[in-house]
Amino acid sequence: MAKAPDCKGRIVEVRWLAPDVLELDVEMVEPAELHFEAGQWVSIPFGPKTVRPYTIASPPSERRIFRLCADVTPGGIGSRFLRGLKPGDELAFYSPLGNLTLIRGSSAEVVLVAEEIGIVPFRSILLGEAERGFPRRMRLYYAAPRRELLIYHEEFEELARRHSGFGYAPILEEADPGWAGGPDDLLKVLARELPDLGGREALICGGGEMVKACRELFMGRGMERRAIRYEKFW
Ligand SMILES: Cc1cc2nc3c(=O)[nH]c(=O)nc-3n(C[C@H](O)[C@H](O)[C@H](O)COP(=O)(O)OP(=O)(O)OC[C@H]3O[C@@H](n4cnc5c(N)ncnc54)[C@H](O)[C@@H]3O)c2cc1C
Repeated sequence: MAKAPDCKGRIVEVRWLAPDVLELDVEMVEPAELHFEAGQWVSIPFGPKTVRPYTIASPPSERRIFRLCADVTPGGIGSRFLRGLKPGDELAFYSPLGNLTLIRGSSAEVVLVAEEIGIVPFRSILLGEAERGFPRRMRLYYAAPRRELLIYHEEFEELARRHSGFGYAPILEEADPGWAGGPDDLLKVLARELPDLGGREALICGGGEMVKACRELFMGRGMERRAIRYEKFW
């Protein structure tokens, strides 16, 4: 039999960031605080062999109430469950895991690449780094088809305005008259802007095809295999 979830929380707020993207604020019940590294995820069980991982969107300094963010478009068991949650509901989950985290002790510049909801771990990482004044230089490339799916866009613009150590490159894949610069393609932008990646590190998150293509591009541009951490959300 599967081990019982070791954490319990209570939903305190549900917000919709787009028609199919929701944010959940979860207050810890057991244990009283959640300890994690920025970029890690918790798992929600749906039966003895079925779990869905969801990444923590808030920084590790926020231990009493943490935030999840999910795109519920897939419509499977995980999406349906999250869609139905409301304030006061209890949430049982397994404690944080995962290594889409910054390499400890390194001071190398980091390239972050997010496709759609793959942005979630980077919100936690970037807010955590902002609290420390961005000791390492970072640049985020973040692509989504439409403006409404570029969640947290204003927050990243504000971070880039306030911190010279953080650069932000949002990419819209579909035409939008209100968007300066026109539609573009994530991999083409990366290929254009990053000719030499020797000595840098990368964190990549999104769909499996993009992650694979991005790793190949980065290694072809001189980045070491072990300098790249990634997570395939789908
Ligand atoms: C380590 C890890 C962390 C994750 N963190 C998050 C997170 O923070 N937020 C989040 O929304 N999801 C996250 N996911 C995805 C999540 O765990 C579920 O797979 C997703 O919610 C779909 O579950 P479901 O039961 O609704 O649909 P399923 O029945 O499991 O999936 C139906 C189909 O949709 C595909 N799919 C899943 N997600 C997407 C997507 N975003 N876009 C397109 N196709 C997709 C699946 O590959 C599958 O083919 C994460 C996945 C992993 C592996």
